[in-house]
Amino acid sequence: MQNLTMKLANNGHTVDLTVTGDPVSITGGGLTNVYIVQQFHFHWGKEDKRGSEHDIDGKYFPMEMHIVHYNSKYKNFTEALNKDDGLAVLGFLFEVGKYNLRFDRIIKHFSEIPYKDEHTDIETFAMRDLLPENLDGYYRYHGSLTTPPCYESVTWSIFYQTIEISEYQLDQFRHTVHENYINETIRDISDDYRPPQCLNHRKIHCSKPVVLNSKTTNRNGRTSASATLVSVTAITSLIFLIKLFRIVF
Ligand SMILES: [Zn+2]
Repeated sequence: MQNLTMKLANNGHTVDLTVTGDPVSITGGGLTNVYIVQQFHFHWGKEDKRGSEHDIDGKYFPMEMHIVHYNSKYKNFTEALNKDDGLAVLGFLFEVGKYNLRFDRIIKHFSEIPYKDEHTDIETFAMRDLLPENLDGYYRYHGSLTTPPCYESVTWSIFYQTIEISEYQLDQFRHTVHENYINETIRDISDDYRPPQCLNHRKIHCSKPVVLNSKTTNRNGRTSASATLVSVTAITSLIFLIKLFRIVF
């Protein structure tokens, strides 16, 4: 790809890919502006039954990918970070399935970044290749970053269609990148997800009708001030977003 760089890094909490060069952007889908890709990263669990930061009707997933964009009306990511309309994050949930060759372009480099603060430039690729075929269906809400400083600056879009990945590939995430510096006791990065938070009367919209289990999930015990929850209780207020994402990669 022309004038594009992807830097893969182990920051001790996750692996992230920072994208620089010619802006890669998204627009549409109810977003009021063009948003430029800054980086993407993953959250995963030690076991298949956990790892995602969002649950759908009480169901968790073994991994979740976040593609972080900033609003092009701001100079850069840092300036956008604490603005109400500063960031748009696309979230993709993973399910255990067949081997996903497309993720090998990332996973094969884990051996170069086993320890905290290590990084490597990797060959660039079309990010669209990593995503599910169908991007029409997604949940939308306004929420926060899920890592400190947890600013309430994110327009979240969580897509219905999951990405398949094999157990073997998930194990590469679980066991080949570590949260410690080199020469320290090895500790795997795992369970690097933030649990769902209380909705606090926020509405979650979805782009088209969804049929969910009618059981509701009791979240009353949760008291945090920010919301990163997708639950059936909130889906009762459906708003149909007319425009779909036009993703320009
Ligand atoms: Zn994240």
